[in-house]
Amino acid sequence: MSDSRNIIKKSVRELRAYALRPDRAGIKLNQNENPWDAPQEIKKETLRRLAERPWSRYPDFSPLALHESLAEFAGWIPEGIIAGNGSNELIQALLMVTVGPRTRVLINEPTFALYRQITIVLGGELISVPFSSELTYDTQALRATIKSESPEVTIICSPNNPTGGVIETDDLVSLLESSPGLVVIDEAYHEFSGQTVVPLLDQYSNLVVLRTFSKAMAMAGLRVGYLLAGHQLAGEIAKAVLPYNLNIVSQTAAQVAVEMFASKLKPLVKLICDERDRLFVGLKQIDGLEPVRSRANFMLVRSAIEPSHMFEELLQRDILIRDVSGYPMLSDYFRVSVGTPDENDRLLKALREICSGANAIKG
Ligand code: PMP
Repeated sequence: MSDSRNIIKKSVRELRAYALRPDRAGIKLNQNENPWDAPQEIKKETLRRLAERPWSRYPDFSPLALHESLAEFAGWIPEGIIAGNGSNELIQALLMVTVGPRTRVLINEPTFALYRQITIVLGGELISVPFSSELTYDTQALRATIKSESPEVTIICSPNNPTGGVIETDDLVSLLESSPGLVVIDEAYHEFSGQTVVPLLDQYSNLVVLRTFSKAMAMAGLRVGYLLAGHQLAGEIAKAVLPYNLNIVSQTAAQVAVEMFASKLKPLVKLICDERDRLFVGLKQIDGLEPVRSRANFMLVRSAIEPSHMFEELLQRDILIRDVSGYPMLSDYFRVSVGTPDENDRLLKALREICSGANAIKG
């Protein structure tokens, strides 16, 4: 019998699977999650509301009540919002309605791996512009590529995972104005940067914004994200979203999280930002490590010790980080999420120990 894999598109067979090693550790700093769990008040209120809903009934075909709440929360129109099963689902929906053979998708690498993955699976053509050698957005190169290639879709992650920088509003405006296609801004980490491009939605009908409840909202386990775009564009993208995509647990928890954001979650965001700055200073003081300034809840660290070795050394000390040395431009880097103060202290202590051991061997 012939190999049934031959049926799979060649471009997909050649693609490496987007996967994560299933390692476990007491201190988990590998997925840019919120180190604090969702506050008890949010969990209790969610469970109280859920107990009153019939579980035997389908959820809303499309979660319109949540769209209304998200619109008020984000400062946009409900008709321009789509809630999804994590923002991953919305990246997929957006690319499903735009990408086919010969469609060009422009991205800035190194960045979140899923943009490349889904584009290739859908048979699109990927154009990749590297970040500058200082790991900042090369807006000039992006603009020049938009001019020469006219990509149908440009995806910019801001703050970018894994480099942590934010695109300047003026630079984004110049991309929006020079782009004949859609410009998608992935704002998964925007709460930690204090910056958003949502106010530009009114002016630019080719702008799409993606957000998630998996980071600042402390709900990665429940899978909620949302997309913001003009009314008509959102209507087209929604055609690729499955009915009942959000189950009632996720819908209810997202609703409660929005209502309690200011009192229960915003203070945690502030704490994470303060810890990010403290972690940066602590890392900078360790011989052999060079942290990269970040506006998100994680940061890159350039390491004199090979990142894969650093990963194993930390895992032995019950700390899980992300080895990003396989990403373009990042062969000397690992990435850490900002943890609780205690977790960050333990990370710094472990890194001091590992680096001083390595320095002693060198010396
Ligand atoms: N965008 C970026 C930039 C991310 O880093 C991630 C997750 N790490 C996502 C989107 C996906 O988030 P979600 O959990 O909402 O699917």
